[in-house]
Amino acid sequence: MRDFEKSNEIYKILSEAIPEGIIVINKEQKIVSANKHASDLFGYEVGELVGKPLSILIPNSYRKAHSGHVSGFYRNHEKRRMAEGRQLFGLRKNDQTFPLEVGLNPFTVYGNTYTLALVIDITKRKKIEESQTMKTAALEAALNGIVITDAQREDNPVIYYNPTFEKITGYSGDEILNRNCRFLHADDKDQEGIKTIRDSIKNGEKCRVQIRNYKKDGTLFWNEVSINPIRDKAGKITHFVGIQNDITERKIAEQEIFHLAKIFNESLNEIYVFDADTLKFINVNYGASKMTGYTLEEFKTLSPLDLKPDFSESQFRKLIEPIVHDNSKKLQFETVHRRKDGTTYPVEVHIQSSINSDRNMMVATILDITDKKNYTKKLEQTVEKRTEQLKKALESEKELNELKTKFLSMVSHEFKTPLSGILTSATLIGKYTKEEQQDKRDKHLKTIMGAVYHLTNILDDFLSIERMEKGKESYQLSDFSLSKMINEVVYNANMLLKNGQHINYPQNIEDVTVYQDERIASLTLTNLLHNAIKYAPEDTEIDLRVELTDDMMVFHIKDNGIGIPEKDQKHIFDRYFRSENVLLTQGTGIGLNIVKAHLENLGGRIYFKSTENKGSTFTVEMPLKTTKLAQG
Ligand code: ADP
Repeated sequence: MRDFEKSNEIYKILSEAIPEGIIVINKEQKIVSANKHASDLFGYEVGELVGKPLSILIPNSYRKAHSGHVSGFYRNHEKRRMAEGRQLFGLRKNDQTFPLEVGLNPFTVYGNTYTLALVIDITKRKKIEESQTMKTAALEAALNGIVITDAQREDNPVIYYNPTFEKITGYSGDEILNRNCRFLHADDKDQEGIKTIRDSIKNGEKCRVQIRNYKKDGTLFWNEVSINPIRDKAGKITHFVGIQNDITERKIAEQEIFHLAKIFNESLNEIYVFDADTLKFINVNYGASKMTGYTLEEFKTLSPLDLKPDFSESQFRKLIEPIVHDNSKKLQFETVHRRKDGTTYPVEVHIQSSINSDRNMMVATILDITDKKNYTKKLEQTVEKRTEQLKKALESEKELNELKTKFLSMVSHEFKTPLSGILTSATLIGKYTKEEQQDKRDKHLKTIMGAVYHLTNILDDFLSIERMEKGKESYQLSDFSLSKMINEVVYNANMLLKNGQHINYPQNIEDVTVYQDERIASLTLTNLLHNAIKYAPEDTEIDLRVELTDDMMVFHIKDNGIGIPEKDQKHIFDRYFRSENVLLTQGTGIGLNIVKAHLENLGGRIYFKSTENKGSTFTVEMPLKTTKLAQG
């Protein structure tokens, strides 16, 4: 051993200069030399190791295996790294173990075989390795997709990707490696986020963006990508690390929330959110602002009480009390809302509580029920109107029935006399067979004609009533000759005159054309003249006078008859009314009623003056649209 040391001064100098531990072992596994590094490494003083068995540097648990390896080593006698493929540990003087790497170099000096062992403490390297392994494992296990690209190669290709990246994108292996990440954009390249990524890679800055990416199968996914440049010691960018996060679900949820918020904001229905404790508004939507005229900012200083003039604070709190802590219930009531300008409108209010974190809020949805109210009102009005119409219809139905009954009794009564007159005259005409009895026949024929004319008038009256009842009466205005119409009326009336009665014909109507309903004018005069004849005794005069102005035609029919008793005068135009002094005279009580209705429909009127036993004067006014005096 000493020989070895003596003869190796040069070796010594060299071995101290080498930064690794050097230990020389003889065939007996004894240490013949150890440099300072080796001694330091194992915690011994310089020279302390010389002469010690190698085993003191080997942890107990490895010693047995080690001696086996040693014999193998000597058999092969070659230079190699010790324990290749295995983990080696050294034992320090203080019993600590540490990982090491040993290079074995056998050599022979003076016929003795030695082994020079180069010992390197790999604690640090191991630590780095472990940390590297851990980091790789972390990358592999990360829930984010991770890619590392090589910034120094052209087009920044991917050199690493983790399993999550494969999972998110659906691509794998060669489809990812050595390619630029842009394959994820598919054709959707025009995106703000992609531009940001491009710029930050160009400028060597980090960035975080949300972009639309596409999986291998074409499915869209929202990718939240953050790009981080990695620099070497000189500050040069060597790599980029891209971290991907599939945020599709979050994005969809965000979009849904955004949409819901949009619906809330844009809804034309009024929605209010207010604090259950302070009652102050927290939020309101567009509909609420639009309807009330307050801005959201103004609302934040208000409470529902500012909108609801019908409530005091205590009333309102009492009302919402039952639902404040129970959002399974809803409160519904109708009230009035007051706008900023002071006007009000009827509303239906739905309130519900909504608990957000620890804040208790109330959500009120308001429906403007102006239309509903109007509708209800209208409906009520319509119902009322219809009821009225029904009532009227029922009444007219009743009246019609009465009319029919009356008609039948009147027909039997009213028609009897003229019909028996017709029968008598007809019978008598049959008896006047001689030629010279023509005047007698004429007399009876006149009676028959008079009776038929009378019956026709009665029927006309009934038909008139029916038409008016059914609203089917129509009027026909036209130009007609006044004298012609009056002539016809007077001619027919003359046939009914009693002995000695005379109608004074108006003098001022020659060549006058008037614009009115000729049928009604004729019917009116006929009725009034017939009454005058009927209710005046023989040998009396009946005056028919006409007054004409530019816009009015007035008839006066004056008789010197029985007159109308004072007490009956107010009923004279009522249907079927007949005064007590005429009950022995034939009549229906319909004529004046019809005449009055027609005249009023045409914008005219009828009135009278009468004194019992002296006579009556009926006056009729009919408006004239145009009055023309015929030329020549
Ligand atoms: P009618 O003559 O068929 O009874 P009207 O309607 O023509 O029916 O007249 C209603 C009632 O008015 C008559 O029954 C009669 O009592 C009264 N009256 C109408 N005209 C006269 C008249 N010129 N003189 C007296 N009473 C009249």
